[in-house]
Amino acid sequence: MNQSGIEFYREAARRSTRWHQDYLREMKKCRFDTIAVHGVYSMQEALDFNQGSLIEPVYMSTSQGYRDADEMEAALSYQVPTWCYSRIANPSIYYLEGVLALLEGYGSDLDVSCLATASGMAAIQTAVDPFLLPDPNDPSGPINFVAAGQVYGGTFQQFAVRKEKERNISWRRVFKYSDLDEWERLIDKNTRFLYGELPSNPGQTFFDLKKLTELAHSHGIPMIVDSTVATPALMRPLALGADIVVQSVSKTLCTSGFGIAGAVISRKNLTSNVDNPEMKADFALYAKTLPNRDNGPNISPMNAILALNDIRTLRSRVDMQSRSTLTVAKYLSSHKHVEQVDYLGLEAHPLHRLASEYLWLVDAEHDEQYGQPVNRYGHLMSFRLKGGARAAREVFNAFSRIYRATDLGRIKSVATIPAISTHSQQGEDARKMADVPPNLIRLCVGAEHPDDIINDLDTALSVLDGNKVIFTSPEFSAGGASSALLGNKE
Ligand SMILES: *Cc1c(COP(=O)(O)O)cnc(C)c1O
Repeated sequence: MNQSGIEFYREAARRSTRWHQDYLREMKKCRFDTIAVHGVYSMQEALDFNQGSLIEPVYMSTSQGYRDADEMEAALSYQVPTWCYSRIANPSIYYLEGVLALLEGYGSDLDVSCLATASGMAAIQTAVDPFLLPDPNDPSGPINFVAAGQVYGGTFQQFAVRKEKERNISWRRVFKYSDLDEWERLIDKNTRFLYGELPSNPGQTFFDLKKLTELAHSHGIPMIVDSTVATPALMRPLALGADIVVQSVSKTLCTSGFGIAGAVISRKNLTSNVDNPEMKADFALYAKTLPNRDNGPNISPMNAILALNDIRTLRSRVDMQSRSTLTVAKYLSSHKHVEQVDYLGLEAHPLHRLASEYLWLVDAEHDEQYGQPVNRYGHLMSFRLKGGARAAREVFNAFSRIYRATDLGRIKSVATIPAISTHSQQGEDARKMADVPPNLIRLCVGAEHPDDIINDLDTALSVLDGNKVIFTSPEFSAGGASSALLGNKE
């Protein structure tokens, strides 16, 4: 047989694609943990192509070299799978995309695809922008989308400034999520999608995803869900009917905090009133090979592998951190200086019952320890101090184990005051509507023993009784590398 020619390469690609599809089919029969550990990287690939490397290699390369002009032509016209150029595709990035597609599709027979991006915000932009193009029959006509009013601060800015202010696309905000009528009243023929965070950050609001998805589909539009806080260890929206999931991979998925990353995960043949058959057929593939190829918000291979490495232990970590968070939430609920604790895992939370219909630890029924389905609620919670903003700041300043940072999902416990950080840009009124008061501390419990986190909270809360906490002395906090840069080191 002729060892070159476009047809030769196409045939080789068909064989390897078939082989890979068979491998994926076998992988799908495995449990969640096995998929998280091995993903799409097979032993055959390790032995035949990667010198036996047990761990997925980081292909730190901008591009792929080709054997001849025919292979190059076949590759660059997308007739064969290719790593052509890392802005578009790269093997290490594919390892991450492959495992996320498998995990978000876990437990269903859905055919799922995934596109990794440089950040969660890039993932959101990638997920929504193809739906926000002008109508070719009415190029200056109005466009809107209906989305929860309580969203992550960055999402708020992207929607309120980049879409609404700069592009005149209206964001119709919903505040009572459980009220399907409120969502429905805001939908009209110019609505392009429904969007919500489940649960939301930091408010931990929740909506009935199945019913909302039915509503979206009855209007011919897609349901897009930011599932960062839940992760596929607790909920897989695509299997519940949603069309697209976005993940800030930077958070619980890449818990070590080594880097920023995002992902768009989609079902095949999604619902949309935008006339673009290619986009509807395979959204993530479309975004990868067309808009993102041209816009370039891609992830680096290094960050992809760092995220992949953390994902291997996702289920057991989310289980442990969820249990610790419940312990911490219960402690805070009975503390005299605490006005309110918001954690979906607390029975007193008004959305506890609804959340309990959706948030299940994956494979608990196959776990020797549980042997039955169990609810888990993640490691994000918030609490409000009696004594307003000042009390919140004092307690916050007194943490010595819990880091003060605008971050979440970490292996280490992290807290922030959203009103002065993640939600500072959107103004007082918007914060009020989003229920982010200045006395609210968002806490994301890490993998430390909960006793030690409770001790840190206990000491910090005691400042409200007049205790002095030594940690924040100015001499101490003025030390370190950053003040050395400022030139005030002794
Ligand atoms: C952090 C976050 C984002 C944005 O992700 P980045 O990776 O920081 O760009 C989006 N949604 C939620 C819920 C988040 O917590």
